[in-house]
Amino acid sequence: MADLPTKTVSADVLRDFVAAIFRKAGCDDTEAGCIAFHLVRANLTGHDSHGVIRIPRYIEDIETGRTKIGGSVIVVSESATHALLDGNYAFGQTIGTQAVDIGVAKARAAGMATVALRHSAHLGRIGDWGERAAAAGMISIHFVNVDNGPLVAPFGGTGRRLATDPVCIAIPPMAGRPMLLLDMATAVVAEGKVFVASMGGKPVPGDAMIGPDGKLSNDPATLYGPMVPSGPRNPVNGQGALRAFGEHKGSGLSFMCEILAGVLSGGGTAGPVGDDGLPFSNGMLSIYLDPGRFGAKNFVREAMEYADYVKTSPVAAGVQEVLVPGEPEARNLANREANGVPVLLQTWTALCNIANKLGIAHPA
Ligand code: NAD
Repeated sequence: MADLPTKTVSADVLRDFVAAIFRKAGCDDTEAGCIAFHLVRANLTGHDSHGVIRIPRYIEDIETGRTKIGGSVIVVSESATHALLDGNYAFGQTIGTQAVDIGVAKARAAGMATVALRHSAHLGRIGDWGERAAAAGMISIHFVNVDNGPLVAPFGGTGRRLATDPVCIAIPPMAGRPMLLLDMATAVVAEGKVFVASMGGKPVPGDAMIGPDGKLSNDPATLYGPMVPSGPRNPVNGQGALRAFGEHKGSGLSFMCEILAGVLSGGGTAGPVGDDGLPFSNGMLSIYLDPGRFGAKNFVREAMEYADYVKTSPVAAGVQEVLVPGEPEARNLANREANGVPVLLQTWTALCNIANKLGIAHPA
């Protein structure tokens, strides 16, 4: 975001401001604090596309009734080692927290557990859910889909059939070391990164999108259609699609996210849009493993030793250091907690406008 005007705000100030917005929008203290924690954590870890930039859409979703305040997961079925949960379109930050806690408790008792969650409003940065399970000592694997949110072309196609479908694998942390955490969209970039680019932020790679003519593109208009700088961005106005990373392999992984998190959970898949009349939602199939029940003598230490070995690889030209998954986020977190969160001026203005509309004070 370095090339766009930003305002640097301390994480505490930003969290308080965001919580005040959601309290005034109708959430109770716990839910408002939870939403604020997760949105600001996305910014802190460097995933600005899933941070406070989302607030105008979240507020609109409250106003239109697409996202419900004060919800709680509904347990549709369960056993000692599984649960099927329905989020009933409540806030993903609330629903995700509850779903992880159910999975962790079952894995602690039984050694492993699988939790299928459907119909959650936006679950945000999926790494947060891996981190929550890891902090409780569990390995977790998450496959996420986007019901009624097709944006990604399958390998060899140009039409929107898949979604940005993230995958996350998290390993319990070792004190004083960055958590080993893979958290990635299966698209070349998450939609939010095109959103940021469309506002003049960091451009996305040249192969991030594909037009209906089959030409690769990094022009946000491929996704959003013609835009004015401060106007809304709506992917329904674009003719093109995002592309899956890694050609047929990423496309296949995204496809399987739709099957596992969308079909298996009963929540529905990325498309066809609106065929069931239901709004956008995230589905998530999560597997929780208690490392103590499997083969390693000291799983966390041995995993970290392997990470250290991987990092000893000679570097390629132009690369300073080999990183393992989770290191970039840990570095951003340390830096932004110490020095503040850079928020796009455009986003800050949007937040202040919302605050004005709701009648709450905003930080100077
Ligand atoms: P990314 O490309 O920035 O990072 C992906 C992974 O690669 C991370 O685990 C990171 O630690 C690792 N990584 C990054 N640079 C590295 C390097 N130089 N060396 C080694 N490892 C490196 O992330 P993304 O794919 O753009 O995803 C962004 C966020 O969007 C994620 O938090 C994801 O959960 C979220 N997302 C959410 C949804 C949703 O519907 N809720 C959809 C898509 C994406």
